[in-house]
Amino acid sequence: METSKKDIRALSKEELQNFFLEHKVPAFKGSQVYQWLWQKGVHDFEGMTNLSLVHRELLKQYFEIKHINIDFQQRSSDGTIKNAVKLHDDLVVESVLIPTSKRTTACVSSQVGCSLDCTFCATAALKRMRNLKADEIYDQVTAIDQQSRLYYHRPLSNIVFMGMGEPLMNYNNVLAAIDKITHPEGLGMAAKRITVSTSGIPKMIRKMADDGVKFGLAVSLHSARQEIRERLMPFAKKFPLSELSEALTYWYKHTKKAITFEYVIWEGINDQKEDIQALVKWCQHLPSKVNLIQYNAIDNSSMKQASNDVVDAYITALTRARIKVTYRRSRGEDIAAACGQLANKITDGKDTAND
Ligand code: SF4
Repeated sequence: METSKKDIRALSKEELQNFFLEHKVPAFKGSQVYQWLWQKGVHDFEGMTNLSLVHRELLKQYFEIKHINIDFQQRSSDGTIKNAVKLHDDLVVESVLIPTSKRTTACVSSQVGCSLDCTFCATAALKRMRNLKADEIYDQVTAIDQQSRLYYHRPLSNIVFMGMGEPLMNYNNVLAAIDKITHPEGLGMAAKRITVSTSGIPKMIRKMADDGVKFGLAVSLHSARQEIRERLMPFAKKFPLSELSEALTYWYKHTKKAITFEYVIWEGINDQKEDIQALVKWCQHLPSKVNLIQYNAIDNSSMKQASNDVVDAYITALTRARIKVTYRRSRGEDIAAACGQLANKITDGKDTAND
């Protein structure tokens, strides 16, 4: 009779130890299996070489190991690697390896599609189908770590949750994945090398502060003027800037961590003096830095990156006000590395489920 096997990676270390105890095998075997699954990332039971054949057969009888698959890969002339990642149920998300001279950053997805509706984002066109599980998030990171070692001969150094989806709407799985990424029996990466980027959900920002998280926080701001922000991110009507500001103040009070504001400047949208002044004023109320990002245009959009003069005007005003500012050129333009573009192309023409 065909019995359905459980995904072994859904078990905690204690549950694995208990499984072995129930089968009259010492509990430490459970710890060894846990290490194989998370630290060494084996894809099959045969790879667990310090387990006897009998114990491997026992595991095979009850469990399967599910893993994501890199469906295909695109490499940009600037070294950026974009992965189309096939999940357990064949849905596709994206993850990106971004190399610079000193570091390799993984940009990972947290949801299939997104329930938010940012007008500048290709992912917004894909309805949210489901949240990623913790191991699906973790696997994106390990896959990029391996690519970094293979192509750049160094381990992954940083992680940003800036791929598809709003990470704070999949909070428990994102936190569980980060727990494994930072745990000595996982990847053992320092939490300070991880940044969670949110569109700005006040209630969840407060929750993160209460939970004492150790990673960094970035907020996609794009405008410090309520009416402009609502045009760009319509859900901002529900989460106005005043509430966001209070939540960020709460975050800083409890974590003492400065906040990064992600900001794209578009022609005819947020390229006026009032926009610059509003951003300077917004940043002055909290220790923060501004990351200006060059816009990677998406298909069927009339939105355009503002001129270099406007970018310079922003940089000058922020610098004068002693606010740290960086300008990040778009990476992987030749492979459509802007979030959601690849998955959009893959799902184009296919049936996409609704929420
Ligand atoms: S920018 Fe982020 S939050 Fe907004 S629609 Fe895209 S994936 Fe969702």
